[in-house]
Amino acid sequence: MELKVGDTYKCPEGHKAKIVWISEDKKIIAVRCLHRHFSKVAKVADRDQPAISIWRYRTKEKKIFVKTMVFLVRI
Ligand SMILES: [Zn+2]
Repeated sequence: MELKVGDTYKCPEGHKAKIVWISEDKKIIAVRCLHRHFSKVAKVADRDQPAISIWRYRTKEKKIFVKTMVFLVRI
Protein backbone atom coordinates (compact mmCIF):
# COMPACT_ATOMS: atom_id res chain seq x y z
CA MET A 1 0.00 0.00 0.00
CA GLU A 2 1.33 3.40 -0.97
CA LEU A 3 1.47 5.91 1.82
CA LYS A 4 0.79 9.54 1.17
CA VAL A 5 0.81 12.79 3.10
CA GLY A 6 -2.41 13.15 5.07
CA ASP A 7 -2.84 9.43 5.65
CA THR A 8 -3.24 8.05 9.12
CA TYR A 9 -0.31 6.15 10.55
CA LYS A 10 0.54 4.83 13.97
CA CYS A 11 2.89 6.97 16.02
CA PRO A 12 5.64 5.11 17.92
CA GLU A 13 3.44 5.13 21.02
CA GLY A 14 0.55 3.58 19.20
CA HIS A 15 -1.75 6.54 18.67
CA LYS A 16 -3.40 7.50 15.47
CA ALA A 17 -1.15 10.08 13.83
CA LYS A 18 -1.09 11.86 10.52
CA ILE A 19 1.63 11.63 7.93
CA VAL A 20 3.02 15.10 7.24
CA TRP A 21 6.10 14.28 5.21
CA ILE A 22 7.51 11.40 3.20
CA SER A 23 11.14 11.16 2.09
CA GLU A 24 11.90 10.88 -1.60
CA ASP A 25 12.99 7.26 -1.35
CA LYS A 26 9.83 6.60 0.73
CA LYS A 27 11.85 4.99 3.48
CA ILE A 28 11.27 7.63 6.13
CA ILE A 29 8.05 9.37 6.98
CA ALA A 30 7.19 12.07 9.49
CA VAL A 31 4.02 11.62 11.48
CA ARG A 32 2.42 14.26 13.64
CA CYS A 33 0.55 12.99 16.65
CA LEU A 34 -1.74 15.18 18.72
CA HIS A 35 -1.84 12.90 21.73
CA ARG A 36 0.09 13.22 24.95
CA HIS A 37 3.53 11.65 25.02
CA PHE A 38 5.63 10.95 27.98
CA SER A 39 8.69 13.17 27.84
CA LYS A 40 10.61 13.03 31.09
CA VAL A 41 10.40 12.93 34.85
CA ALA A 42 11.18 16.16 36.65
CA LYS A 43 11.66 16.82 40.31
CA VAL A 44 9.35 19.49 41.65
CA ALA A 45 8.72 20.94 45.09
CA ASP A 46 6.07 19.00 46.96
CA ARG A 47 4.02 21.66 48.70
CA ASP A 48 1.56 19.14 50.13
CA GLN A 49 4.23 17.95 52.56
CA PRO A 50 5.69 19.98 55.38
CA ALA A 51 8.76 21.86 54.27
CA ILE A 52 12.11 20.79 55.60
CA SER A 53 13.02 24.43 56.15
CA ILE A 54 11.85 27.77 54.81
CA TRP A 55 13.63 27.27 51.54
CA ARG A 56 13.62 23.56 51.23
CA TYR A 57 10.58 21.63 50.28
CA ARG A 58 10.54 17.92 49.87
CA THR A 59 10.56 17.00 46.24
CA LYS A 60 8.35 14.71 44.29
CA GLU A 61 8.61 13.35 40.82
CA LYS A 62 6.34 14.70 38.19
CA LYS A 63 5.87 13.20 34.79
CA ILE A 64 6.10 15.68 31.98
CA PHE A 65 3.99 15.06 28.93
CA VAL A 66 4.11 16.88 25.66
CA LYS A 67 1.35 17.15 23.12
CA THR A 68 1.69 17.28 19.39
CA MET A 69 4.94 15.63 18.50
CA VAL A 70 6.40 14.90 15.12
CA PHE A 71 8.13 11.55 14.81
CA LEU A 72 10.34 10.31 12.06
CA VAL A 73 9.49 6.73 11.28
CA ARG A 74 11.58 4.38 9.16
CA ILE A 75 9.32 2.19 7.07
ZN1 LIG B 1 1.30 9.51 19.69
